[in-house]
Amino acid sequence: MDELKRTDPDIYQLIKDEERYEVDSVRLIASENYVSKAVLEATGSILTNKYSEGYPGRRYYEGQRNVDQIETLAVDRAKALFKVDHANVQPYSGSPANVAIYFALLKPGDTIMGLALPHGGHLTHGWPVSITGTFWKSAQYEVDRESHVVDFDKVRALAHKERPKIIVTGGTAYPRLWDFKSFSEIAKEVGALLLADISHVAGLIVGGVHPDPAPYADVIMTTTHKTLRGPRGAMIMCRNEYAEAIDKAVFPGLQGGPHNHTTAAIAVALKEAATPEFKVYAKKVVSNAKTLADELLARGFSLVSGGTDNHLILVDLTSKKVIGKKGAKALDAAGIVCNYNTVPHDPRKPFSPSGLRLGTPAVTSRGMGDAEMRQIAKFMDEAIAHAGDETELQKIAAAVTEMCRKFPAPGITLIS
Ligand SMILES: *Cc1c(COP(=O)(O)O)cnc(C)c1O
Repeated sequence: MDELKRTDPDIYQLIKDEERYEVDSVRLIASENYVSKAVLEATGSILTNKYSEGYPGRRYYEGQRNVDQIETLAVDRAKALFKVDHANVQPYSGSPANVAIYFALLKPGDTIMGLALPHGGHLTHGWPVSITGTFWKSAQYEVDRESHVVDFDKVRALAHKERPKIIVTGGTAYPRLWDFKSFSEIAKEVGALLLADISHVAGLIVGGVHPDPAPYADVIMTTTHKTLRGPRGAMIMCRNEYAEAIDKAVFPGLQGGPHNHTTAAIAVALKEAATPEFKVYAKKVVSNAKTLADELLARGFSLVSGGTDNHLILVDLTSKKVIGKKGAKALDAAGIVCNYNTVPHDPRKPFSPSGLRLGTPAVTSRGMGDAEMRQIAKFMDEAIAHAGDETELQKIAAAVTEMCRKFPAPGITLIS
């Protein structure tokens, strides 16, 4: 990055600092990952120069000889990998992708039924502060108070009462598997469409360690930057009958020109995700999460739903007598990065909730395994016990960094 260093030393230095931080810390934010060098190169390419409103072969700009081929490759790879009729790879990110889906398939005033945000859903599943809960009506289902898993009797009862036009599965803080078949049965009973928002688990699905929504969902949305390990972006996939409506809603309905550098990087990530190595990776993400969960349980942490089936863990810190925000800050000072999170039926406010969300996609991309998961649980236990004690936290951070340096971070070559 010699030219960046000359032109803008401030930004250059901050990127270098972030590289160092991403190498020297244990990154447990469940939605984050490390992309490959190849994905980084495509993302940083001259494709950012191009405008190409429209779709391959149907553009509003000339000069698309290369861009059309890039987008077609991305689309074809998405269709093959997720076994779907149609894929749109242009959404700028997951949130606008969901808005485009509702814009395509709903009328103003129709009802969206999704998992409530404090129970692990996403803002764009109809939560009141989101455009999706203001411009459309919304009904929100919750997880069971005791088991913390989706209770299908209650989902069914709510669907029959509220008659949603679309039911959304998927979330950001749900540590269990999604039963797409049961959701599709309920959707059929009430004449609703089924949207599978697989943003968090897309990599696990293509890796064969999470149920596949393709046989059951009318529409599938995924971000490309979480377990899928691609650039920041999103894709909408659907049956042929919804293809035209979805494409029109993305462009010209909601967006302008697609981000072609992102499209190229999505194509690269999809190629990587189709390899046998990626299947091994997905399996390891899940087994690492189980090991970390077991070790935390053994150390007296209480986990929402009692454990995990996927890549993420939701810790309820109430039993450790520490609040989520204080816990996350202590962990960050110790070199372990995660986010505070509400737990289902949280008595505290979202800005200072009771829980922590942890995930294993990023540490698994560095090649960490069972031994490191046990070590991380030990570091976490010590850091939470010493919350507020900066000297102790710094000592833990030094040990964390020492462990991290043994596991090169994909895409990052540190010079000094
Ligand atoms: C991350 C996520 C989104 C939104 O993605 P952004 O790219 O952050 O807008 C939507 N739905 C789910 C389930 C997510 O996890």
